[in-house]
Amino acid sequence: MDVIVVGAGPAGTMAAEAVAKEGYSVTVFEKGPLRREKPCGGGVSYRVMEEFNLDMTADFYDRRCLGIFLCSPKHDTIRLTDKEEDAGYLVMREKFDYCLVERARKTGAQFREKTYAHPYVENGKIRGVKTTEPTDMEEGVEECDIVIACDGTPSHFARTLNIYRGNDYNQATTYQYQMRMDNAEIDEIIGNNMEIYFGHEWTPYGYSWIFPKKGVLTVGNGTWLYAIKKKKTNLKRCLDRFIREHPVASKKLEHAEIMYAQSAMMGFTGIASPIYLDNFMLAGDAAGFVSVPTGEGIYYSMVSGRIAGEVAVEALKAHDTSHRFLKKYKKRTDKKMGADMTWGYWLRRLVMDKERSQNKLVEASLKDKWIYDMTGRLIGGEIGYRTFLMKYLVRPDKLIKLM
Ligand SMILES: Cc1cc2nc3c(=O)[nH]c(=O)nc-3n(C[C@H](O)[C@H](O)[C@H](O)COP(=O)(O)OP(=O)(O)OC[C@H]3O[C@@H](n4cnc5c(N)ncnc54)[C@H](O)[C@@H]3O)c2cc1C
Repeated sequence: MDVIVVGAGPAGTMAAEAVAKEGYSVTVFEKGPLRREKPCGGGVSYRVMEEFNLDMTADFYDRRCLGIFLCSPKHDTIRLTDKEEDAGYLVMREKFDYCLVERARKTGAQFREKTYAHPYVENGKIRGVKTTEPTDMEEGVEECDIVIACDGTPSHFARTLNIYRGNDYNQATTYQYQMRMDNAEIDEIIGNNMEIYFGHEWTPYGYSWIFPKKGVLTVGNGTWLYAIKKKKTNLKRCLDRFIREHPVASKKLEHAEIMYAQSAMMGFTGIASPIYLDNFMLAGDAAGFVSVPTGEGIYYSMVSGRIAGEVAVEALKAHDTSHRFLKKYKKRTDKKMGADMTWGYWLRRLVMDKERSQNKLVEASLKDKWIYDMTGRLIGGEIGYRTFLMKYLVRPDKLIKLM
Protein backbone atom coordinates (compact mmCIF):
# COMPACT_ATOMS: atom_id res chain seq x y z
CA MET A 1 0.00 0.00 0.00
CA ASP A 2 1.28 3.51 -0.76
CA VAL A 3 -0.51 5.44 1.97
CA ILE A 4 -2.44 4.55 5.12
CA VAL A 5 -4.75 7.12 6.66
CA VAL A 6 -5.94 6.71 10.24
CA GLY A 7 -9.43 8.08 11.00
CA ALA A 8 -12.37 8.66 8.66
CA GLY A 9 -13.29 12.16 9.86
CA PRO A 10 -13.08 15.22 7.57
CA ALA A 11 -9.26 15.30 7.71
CA GLY A 12 -8.87 11.59 6.90
CA THR A 13 -11.33 11.51 4.02
CA MET A 14 -9.82 14.59 2.38
CA ALA A 15 -6.30 13.15 2.74
CA ALA A 16 -7.43 9.86 1.20
CA GLU A 17 -9.21 11.61 -1.67
CA ALA A 18 -6.11 13.68 -2.51
CA VAL A 19 -3.98 10.51 -2.68
CA ALA A 20 -6.46 8.27 -4.51
CA LYS A 21 -7.33 10.76 -7.21
CA GLU A 22 -3.66 10.77 -8.32
CA GLY A 23 -3.81 6.99 -8.78
CA TYR A 24 -1.95 5.91 -5.62
CA SER A 25 -3.32 3.22 -3.33
CA VAL A 26 -4.71 4.38 0.01
CA THR A 27 -6.68 2.72 2.80
CA VAL A 28 -8.38 4.54 5.66
CA PHE A 29 -8.62 2.66 8.97
CA GLU A 30 -11.50 3.81 11.17
CA LYS A 31 -11.94 2.45 14.67
CA GLY A 32 -15.70 3.05 14.67
CA PRO A 33 -18.36 2.47 12.05
CA LEU A 34 -18.13 4.77 9.00
CA ARG A 35 -21.59 6.09 9.78
CA ARG A 36 -21.00 7.52 13.20
CA GLU A 37 -22.34 10.61 14.92
CA LYS A 38 -19.26 12.49 16.13
CA PRO A 39 -20.02 14.94 18.98
CA CYS A 40 -20.06 18.29 17.18
CA GLY A 41 -22.17 21.44 16.80
CA GLY A 42 -22.22 20.78 13.06
CA GLY A 43 -21.68 24.39 11.96
CA VAL A 44 -19.93 24.34 8.58
CA SER A 45 -18.72 27.69 7.26
CA TYR A 46 -19.43 28.70 3.68
CA ARG A 47 -15.75 28.52 2.70
CA VAL A 48 -15.91 24.71 3.11
CA MET A 49 -18.45 24.50 0.31
CA GLU A 50 -16.45 26.83 -1.91
CA GLU A 51 -12.95 25.47 -1.35
CA PHE A 52 -13.98 21.81 -1.51
CA ASN A 53 -16.51 22.24 -4.24
CA LEU A 54 -19.20 20.41 -2.26
CA ASP A 55 -22.43 19.85 -4.09
CA MET A 56 -24.95 22.27 -2.54
CA THR A 57 -27.84 20.16 -3.76
CA ALA A 58 -26.52 17.03 -2.03
CA ASP A 59 -28.37 15.69 0.95
CA PHE A 60 -25.53 16.23 3.41
CA TYR A 61 -26.82 19.21 5.36
CA ASP A 62 -29.88 19.66 7.54
CA ARG A 63 -30.31 23.40 7.45
CA ARG A 64 -28.86 26.42 5.71
CA CYS A 65 -27.29 28.90 8.10
CA LEU A 66 -28.07 32.55 7.38
CA GLY A 67 -26.96 34.24 10.56
CA ILE A 68 -25.13 34.09 13.87
CA PHE A 69 -26.99 35.04 17.03
CA LEU A 70 -24.92 36.20 20.01
CA CYS A 71 -26.14 36.67 23.58
CA SER A 72 -23.80 38.58 25.94
CA PRO A 73 -23.32 37.86 29.66
CA LYS A 74 -25.68 40.83 30.29
CA HIS A 75 -28.19 39.11 27.96
CA ASP A 76 -28.00 41.71 25.19
CA THR A 77 -28.62 39.91 21.91
CA ILE A 78 -27.62 40.50 18.30
CA ARG A 79 -28.00 38.65 15.01
CA LEU A 80 -24.87 38.94 12.87
CA THR A 81 -24.30 38.48 9.13
CA ASP A 82 -27.58 39.85 7.96
CA LYS A 83 -27.28 38.24 4.54
CA GLU A 84 -29.58 36.98 1.91
CA GLU A 85 -27.15 34.28 0.85
CA ASP A 86 -25.87 31.45 3.06
CA ALA A 87 -23.33 32.13 5.81
CA GLY A 88 -22.85 28.37 6.08
CA TYR A 89 -24.64 25.09 6.71
CA LEU A 90 -25.74 23.08 9.73
CA VAL A 91 -25.07 19.38 9.49
CA MET A 92 -25.45 16.16 11.45
CA ARG A 93 -21.98 14.66 11.35
CA GLU A 94 -23.20 11.13 10.65
CA LYS A 95 -24.55 12.32 7.32
CA PHE A 96 -21.90 14.92 6.46
CA ASP A 97 -18.86 12.74 7.20
CA TYR A 98 -20.38 9.80 5.33
CA CYS A 99 -20.90 11.98 2.23
CA LEU A 100 -17.17 12.78 2.35
CA VAL A 101 -16.39 9.04 2.66
CA GLU A 102 -18.52 8.32 -0.42
CA ARG A 103 -16.81 11.12 -2.33
CA ALA A 104 -13.35 9.72 -1.46
CA ARG A 105 -14.47 6.21 -2.41
CA LYS A 106 -15.40 7.43 -5.89
CA THR A 107 -11.75 8.43 -6.43
CA GLY A 108 -10.59 4.92 -5.43
CA ALA A 109 -9.86 5.26 -1.69
CA GLN A 110 -10.49 2.09 0.35
CA PHE A 111 -12.03 2.15 3.83
CA ARG A 112 -11.80 -0.39 6.66
CA GLU A 113 -14.19 0.36 9.48
CA LYS A 114 -14.19 -0.98 13.07
CA THR A 115 -10.44 -1.38 12.88
CA TYR A 116 -8.22 0.29 15.49
CA ALA A 117 -4.79 1.37 14.25
CA HIS A 118 -1.56 1.79 16.26
CA PRO A 119 1.76 3.07 14.92
CA TYR A 120 3.99 0.30 13.59
CA VAL A 121 7.58 1.39 14.22
CA GLU A 122 10.68 -0.47 13.07
CA ASN A 123 14.24 0.74 13.67
CA GLY A 124 12.90 4.03 14.98
CA LYS A 125 10.84 4.79 11.85
CA ILE A 126 7.14 4.46 11.14
CA ARG A 127 6.59 1.69 8.60
CA GLY A 128 2.81 1.33 8.72
CA VAL A 129 0.14 0.48 11.27
CA LYS A 130 -0.71 -2.39 13.58
CA THR A 131 -4.41 -3.03 13.50
CA THR A 132 -6.85 -4.57 15.94
CA GLU A 133 -10.31 -5.57 14.84
CA PRO A 134 -12.65 -5.63 17.82
CA THR A 135 -14.82 -8.43 16.40
CA ASP A 136 -12.15 -11.13 16.62
CA MET A 137 -9.29 -9.15 18.25
CA GLU A 138 -7.16 -10.26 15.34
CA GLU A 139 -3.93 -8.29 15.06
CA GLY A 140 -2.23 -7.48 11.81
CA VAL A 141 0.56 -5.34 10.45
CA GLU A 142 -0.10 -3.24 7.38
CA GLU A 143 3.00 -1.72 5.82
CA CYS A 144 3.02 1.36 3.61
CA ASP A 145 5.26 4.22 2.47
CA ILE A 146 3.48 7.01 4.35
CA VAL A 147 1.05 7.11 7.30
CA ILE A 148 -1.21 10.14 7.69
CA ALA A 149 -2.71 10.15 11.20
CA CYS A 150 -6.06 11.98 11.33
CA ASP A 151 -7.24 10.33 14.53
CA GLY A 152 -8.81 13.35 16.21
CA THR A 153 -8.11 14.69 19.67
CA PRO A 154 -6.41 13.58 21.89
CA SER A 155 -4.55 11.72 19.13
CA HIS A 156 -3.46 8.17 19.93
CA PHE A 157 -0.68 8.50 17.34
CA ALA A 158 0.60 11.84 18.70
CA ARG A 159 0.58 10.48 22.26
CA THR A 160 2.30 7.21 21.34
CA LEU A 161 4.95 9.07 19.34
CA ASN A 162 5.46 11.58 22.19
CA ILE A 163 4.43 14.65 20.23
CA TYR A 164 1.19 15.43 22.04
CA ARG A 165 1.29 18.57 24.16
CA GLY A 166 -2.17 18.88 25.67
CA ASN A 167 -2.59 20.17 29.22
CA ASP A 168 -5.37 21.68 31.37
CA TYR A 169 -4.74 25.15 29.89
CA ASN A 170 -4.90 24.23 26.22
CA GLN A 171 -7.50 21.47 26.16
CA ALA A 172 -11.21 22.02 26.42
CA THR A 173 -13.98 19.67 27.35
CA THR A 174 -17.49 19.79 25.90
CA TYR A 175 -20.92 18.39 26.71
CA GLN A 176 -23.98 18.51 24.49
CA TYR A 177 -27.50 17.20 24.03
CA GLN A 178 -29.19 16.36 20.77
CA MET A 179 -32.74 17.59 21.49
CA ARG A 180 -35.87 16.82 19.51
CA MET A 181 -38.18 19.73 18.65
CA ASP A 182 -40.87 20.21 16.07
CA ASN A 183 -39.22 21.53 12.90
CA ALA A 184 -41.85 24.25 12.36
CA GLU A 185 -41.25 25.44 15.91
CA ILE A 186 -37.48 25.52 15.29
CA ASP A 187 -38.13 27.61 12.16
CA GLU A 188 -40.20 30.05 14.16
CA ILE A 189 -38.13 30.31 17.35
CA ILE A 190 -34.51 29.79 16.26
CA GLY A 191 -34.67 30.03 12.47
CA ASN A 192 -31.53 29.52 10.39
CA ASN A 193 -29.13 30.91 13.00
CA MET A 194 -26.28 29.45 14.99
CA GLU A 195 -26.75 30.74 18.53
CA ILE A 196 -23.87 31.41 20.92
CA TYR A 197 -24.36 32.38 24.56
CA PHE A 198 -21.59 33.93 26.65
CA GLY A 199 -21.48 34.30 30.43
CA HIS A 200 -19.33 32.64 33.09
CA GLU A 201 -22.48 32.08 35.12
CA TRP A 202 -23.58 29.53 32.50
CA THR A 203 -20.23 28.20 31.23
CA PRO A 204 -17.17 29.54 33.05
CA TYR A 205 -14.53 30.86 30.58
CA GLY A 206 -16.36 29.18 27.71
CA TYR A 207 -19.72 29.45 26.01
CA SER A 208 -22.94 27.58 25.33
CA TRP A 209 -24.58 27.02 21.96
CA ILE A 210 -27.84 26.13 20.24
CA PHE A 211 -27.38 24.92 16.66
CA PRO A 212 -30.61 24.06 14.82
CA LYS A 213 -30.93 21.13 12.39
CA LYS A 214 -33.95 19.37 10.88
CA GLY A 215 -36.26 18.62 13.85
CA VAL A 216 -33.20 18.54 16.11
CA LEU A 217 -31.38 21.13 18.22
CA THR A 218 -27.77 20.59 19.23
CA VAL A 219 -27.45 22.30 22.61
CA GLY A 220 -24.09 22.25 24.33
CA ASN A 221 -21.28 23.97 26.16
CA GLY A 222 -17.52 23.82 26.36
CA THR A 223 -14.65 25.28 28.33
CA TRP A 224 -11.02 24.78 29.33
CA LEU A 225 -10.16 21.86 31.60
CA TYR A 226 -8.55 24.20 34.13
CA ALA A 227 -11.81 26.23 34.37
CA ILE A 228 -13.81 23.15 35.31
CA LYS A 229 -11.34 22.29 38.04
CA LYS A 230 -11.04 25.89 39.29
CA LYS A 231 -14.82 26.36 39.52
CA LYS A 232 -15.33 22.82 40.90
CA THR A 233 -18.24 22.31 38.54
CA ASN A 234 -19.14 19.98 35.69
CA LEU A 235 -20.48 20.77 32.25
CA LYS A 236 -23.60 18.62 32.52
CA ARG A 237 -24.72 20.54 35.59
CA CYS A 238 -23.98 23.86 33.82
CA LEU A 239 -25.88 22.79 30.68
CA ASP A 240 -28.92 21.54 32.58
CA ARG A 241 -29.11 24.88 34.40
CA PHE A 242 -28.64 26.79 31.12
CA ILE A 243 -31.57 24.91 29.56
CA ARG A 244 -33.80 25.43 32.62
CA GLU A 245 -32.90 28.95 33.72
CA HIS A 246 -31.10 31.05 31.10
CA PRO A 247 -33.39 34.09 30.63
CA VAL A 248 -33.22 33.96 26.82
CA ALA A 249 -32.38 30.33 25.97
CA SER A 250 -34.72 28.58 28.43
CA LYS A 251 -37.78 30.14 26.75
CA LYS A 252 -36.66 28.89 23.34
CA LEU A 253 -36.01 25.38 24.66
CA GLU A 254 -39.29 24.93 26.55
CA HIS A 255 -40.59 22.30 24.10
CA ALA A 256 -37.28 20.60 23.32
CA GLU A 257 -36.76 17.03 24.55
CA ILE A 258 -33.38 15.45 25.21
CA MET A 259 -32.71 12.46 22.91
CA TYR A 260 -29.13 11.70 23.96
CA ALA A 261 -26.01 13.28 25.45
CA GLN A 262 -22.49 13.45 24.00
CA SER A 263 -19.16 14.54 25.40
CA ALA A 264 -15.75 15.07 23.79
CA MET A 265 -12.46 16.86 24.20
CA MET A 266 -11.23 19.71 22.00
CA GLY A 267 -7.51 20.32 21.67
CA PHE A 268 -6.54 24.00 21.53
CA THR A 269 -2.91 22.98 21.81
CA GLY A 270 -1.68 24.96 18.82
CA ILE A 271 -0.11 23.14 15.88
CA ALA A 272 1.70 19.99 17.04
CA SER A 273 5.43 20.14 16.84
CA PRO A 274 6.65 18.26 14.91
CA ILE A 275 3.69 17.48 12.63
CA TYR A 276 5.79 15.34 10.30
CA LEU A 277 8.45 12.66 10.78
CA ASP A 278 10.03 10.21 8.34
CA ASN A 279 7.11 8.52 6.49
CA PHE A 280 4.55 10.28 8.69
CA MET A 281 2.24 13.30 8.86
CA LEU A 282 -0.35 14.36 11.43
CA ALA A 283 -3.49 16.22 10.26
CA GLY A 284 -6.81 17.64 11.47
CA ASP A 285 -7.62 17.88 15.19
CA ALA A 286 -4.81 15.40 15.89
CA ALA A 287 -2.37 18.08 14.76
CA GLY A 288 -4.14 20.94 16.58
CA PHE A 289 -5.86 22.50 13.54
CA VAL A 290 -8.91 24.00 15.23
CA SER A 291 -9.94 27.61 15.81
CA VAL A 292 -9.51 28.46 19.48
CA PRO A 293 -12.05 31.35 19.70
CA THR A 294 -14.90 29.59 17.87
CA GLY A 295 -14.10 25.85 18.03
CA GLU A 296 -14.45 25.63 14.24
CA GLY A 297 -12.43 22.59 13.19
CA ILE A 298 -14.15 21.01 10.19
CA TYR A 299 -12.70 23.51 7.71
CA TYR A 300 -9.17 23.40 9.15
CA SER A 301 -9.22 19.59 9.30
CA MET A 302 -10.28 19.27 5.70
CA VAL A 303 -7.61 21.73 4.54
CA SER A 304 -4.81 20.09 6.52
CA GLY A 305 -5.93 16.60 5.39
CA ARG A 306 -5.96 17.64 1.77
CA ILE A 307 -2.52 19.28 1.99
CA ALA A 308 -1.11 16.16 3.72
CA GLY A 309 -2.54 13.99 0.91
CA GLU A 310 -1.07 16.24 -1.79
CA VAL A 311 2.36 16.27 -0.15
CA ALA A 312 2.22 12.45 0.19
CA VAL A 313 1.63 12.17 -3.57
CA GLU A 314 4.58 14.48 -4.31
CA ALA A 315 6.80 12.46 -1.96
CA LEU A 316 5.79 9.18 -3.66
CA LYS A 317 6.51 10.67 -7.08
CA ALA A 318 9.94 11.85 -5.87
CA HIS A 319 10.65 8.47 -4.15
CA ASP A 320 11.50 10.44 -1.02
CA THR A 321 9.29 10.08 2.05
CA SER A 322 11.91 11.38 4.50
CA HIS A 323 11.16 14.15 7.00
CA ARG A 324 13.25 16.49 4.85
CA PHE A 325 10.77 16.11 1.98
CA LEU A 326 7.65 16.13 4.18
CA LYS A 327 8.69 19.50 5.61
CA LYS A 328 6.66 20.91 2.71
CA TYR A 329 3.55 19.90 4.64
CA LYS A 330 4.40 22.20 7.53
CA LYS A 331 5.34 25.06 5.22
CA ARG A 332 2.04 24.86 3.34
CA THR A 333 -0.19 24.46 6.39
CA ASP A 334 1.66 27.31 8.14
CA LYS A 335 1.12 29.56 5.14
CA LYS A 336 -2.57 28.73 4.85
CA MET A 337 -3.61 28.44 8.51
CA GLY A 338 -0.66 29.15 10.85
CA ALA A 339 -1.73 32.73 11.59
CA ASP A 340 -5.30 31.69 12.49
CA MET A 341 -3.99 29.10 14.92
CA THR A 342 -1.50 31.41 16.67
CA TRP A 343 -3.51 34.63 16.74
CA GLY A 344 -6.73 32.78 17.55
CA TYR A 345 -5.29 31.40 20.79
CA TRP A 346 -4.28 34.84 22.05
CA LEU A 347 -7.48 36.48 20.87
CA ARG A 348 -9.44 34.02 22.99
CA ARG A 349 -7.22 34.00 26.09
CA LEU A 350 -6.70 37.75 26.28
CA VAL A 351 -10.03 39.05 24.97
CA MET A 352 -12.83 36.58 24.31
CA ASP A 353 -12.63 34.69 27.61
CA LYS A 354 -13.36 37.90 29.50
CA GLU A 355 -16.99 38.82 30.23
CA ARG A 356 -16.23 42.52 29.89
CA SER A 357 -14.98 41.97 26.32
CA GLN A 358 -17.96 39.75 25.47
CA ASN A 359 -20.38 42.45 26.67
CA LYS A 360 -18.46 45.13 24.77
CA LEU A 361 -18.38 43.07 21.58
CA VAL A 362 -22.16 42.69 21.53
CA GLU A 363 -22.82 46.30 22.67
CA ALA A 364 -20.45 47.79 20.10
CA SER A 365 -21.77 45.53 17.30
CA LEU A 366 -25.30 46.73 18.11
CA LYS A 367 -24.26 50.38 17.86
CA ASP A 368 -21.71 50.45 15.07
CA LYS A 369 -22.25 48.98 11.58
CA TRP A 370 -18.50 48.68 10.88
CA ILE A 371 -17.96 46.63 14.07
CA TYR A 372 -21.11 44.63 13.34
CA ASP A 373 -19.78 43.65 9.89
CA MET A 374 -16.31 42.85 11.21
CA THR A 375 -17.64 40.59 14.02
CA GLY A 376 -19.92 38.76 11.58
CA ARG A 377 -17.13 38.26 9.05
CA LEU A 378 -14.81 36.89 11.75
CA ILE A 379 -17.26 34.46 13.36
CA GLY A 380 -18.61 33.40 9.96
CA GLY A 381 -15.06 32.45 8.90
CA GLU A 382 -14.89 35.03 6.10
CA ILE A 383 -11.74 36.68 7.51
CA GLY A 384 -8.94 35.29 9.65
CA TYR A 385 -7.93 36.49 13.12
CA ARG A 386 -4.83 38.29 11.92
CA THR A 387 -6.85 40.28 9.36
CA PHE A 388 -9.45 41.05 12.04
CA LEU A 389 -6.84 42.39 14.44
CA MET A 390 -5.04 44.34 11.67
CA LYS A 391 -8.28 46.02 10.60
CA TYR A 392 -8.75 47.26 14.18
CA LEU A 393 -5.16 48.44 14.46
CA VAL A 394 -5.69 50.81 11.53
CA ARG A 395 -9.06 51.97 12.97
CA PRO A 396 -8.20 53.02 16.56
CA ASP A 397 -11.57 54.89 16.71
CA LYS A 398 -13.32 51.50 16.43
CA LEU A 399 -10.88 49.75 18.77
CA ILE A 400 -11.68 52.29 21.50
CA LYS A 401 -15.35 51.32 21.26
CA LEU A 402 -14.42 47.74 22.12
CA MET A 403 -12.35 48.72 25.16
C1 LIG B 1 -18.78 19.42 21.02
C2 LIG B 1 -18.04 19.85 19.79
C3 LIG B 1 -18.63 20.77 18.94
C4 LIG B 1 -17.97 21.15 17.75
N1 LIG B 1 -18.62 21.99 16.89
C5 LIG B 1 -18.04 22.31 15.72
C6 LIG B 1 -18.74 23.10 14.76
O1 LIG B 1 -19.88 23.49 14.96
N2 LIG B 1 -18.09 23.41 13.60
C7 LIG B 1 -16.81 22.97 13.33
O2 LIG B 1 -16.28 23.30 12.26
N3 LIG B 1 -16.14 22.21 14.22
C8 LIG B 1 -16.72 21.85 15.40
N4 LIG B 1 -16.06 21.04 16.28
C9 LIG B 1 -14.71 20.56 15.92
C10 LIG B 1 -14.80 19.42 14.89
O3 LIG B 1 -15.68 18.44 15.35
C11 LIG B 1 -13.42 18.83 14.66
O4 LIG B 1 -12.49 19.86 14.44
C12 LIG B 1 -13.39 17.87 13.48
O5 LIG B 1 -14.27 16.80 13.65
C13 LIG B 1 -11.97 17.33 13.28
O6 LIG B 1 -11.94 16.42 12.22
P1 LIG B 1 -10.82 15.27 12.18
O7 LIG B 1 -11.05 14.53 10.94
O8 LIG B 1 -9.50 15.87 12.45
O9 LIG B 1 -11.14 14.38 13.47
P2 LIG B 1 -12.46 13.58 13.85
O10 LIG B 1 -13.65 14.12 13.20
O11 LIG B 1 -12.44 13.53 15.35
O12 LIG B 1 -12.20 12.14 13.27
C14 LIG B 1 -11.20 11.30 13.80
C15 LIG B 1 -11.59 9.88 13.48
O13 LIG B 1 -10.51 9.03 13.84
C16 LIG B 1 -11.02 7.85 14.41
N5 LIG B 1 -9.93 7.26 15.21
C17 LIG B 1 -9.38 7.78 16.34
N6 LIG B 1 -8.36 7.01 16.75
C18 LIG B 1 -8.27 5.99 15.88
C19 LIG B 1 -7.41 4.86 15.78
N7 LIG B 1 -6.40 4.67 16.64
N8 LIG B 1 -7.60 3.99 14.77
C20 LIG B 1 -8.60 4.19 13.85
N9 LIG B 1 -9.45 5.23 13.91
C21 LIG B 1 -9.28 6.14 14.90
C22 LIG B 1 -12.22 8.32 15.20
O14 LIG B 1 -13.15 7.28 15.45
C23 LIG B 1 -12.78 9.41 14.30
O15 LIG B 1 -13.78 8.91 13.43
C24 LIG B 1 -16.68 20.63 17.46
C25 LIG B 1 -16.08 19.72 18.35
C26 LIG B 1 -16.75 19.32 19.49
C27 LIG B 1 -16.09 18.34 20.42
